[in-house]
Amino acid sequence: MRVGFGYDSHVFDEGRPLRLGGVLIPGAPGLRGHSDADALVHALVDALYGAAALGDIGSHFPDTDPRWAGADSLLFLRAAVAEVRAAGYTVGNVDATVLCERPKLRPHIDAIRACLAKELGVPVTSVSVKAKTNEGMDAVGAGRGIAVHCVVLLAFAAGS
Ligand code: MG
Repeated sequence: MRVGFGYDSHVFDEGRPLRLGGVLIPGAPGLRGHSDADALVHALVDALYGAAALGDIGSHFPDTDPRWAGADSLLFLRAAVAEVRAAGYTVGNVDATVLCERPKLRPHIDAIRACLAKELGVPVTSVSVKAKTNEGMDAVGAGRGIAVHCVVLLAFAAGS
């Protein structure tokens, strides 16, 4: 078994759509970033790479590379899943906590879980996504953006 931890944060950008966990969240400000700035997927990708000690999202998909400008972050997730599988691991479970004062994410949690589970090739019951505010503290609490913490468990695949 290998555990991995990922963290990411992005500031709001009112001019962009919000994509979180691969799901479009209507009526909410988007996030600033080189790609689609999906902080949840980025934290998950870092957790996957971290569990397998395969570097981090920045080393695989540099934000200086024009190929990733505006990119769908699910592309990064698919690549990370393929790499950890190639290294002999299977994904066990994921647990993520999203911190933001807005928007309210509860109505979107199950869609996000389903999306991530599909990409990871695991049952939706193996993907936990929790959302909470930062109780007004710090930049996230001031409503400037979204931060995400994520852990993932990998197991060696049988026969690898
Ligand atoms: Mg990011």
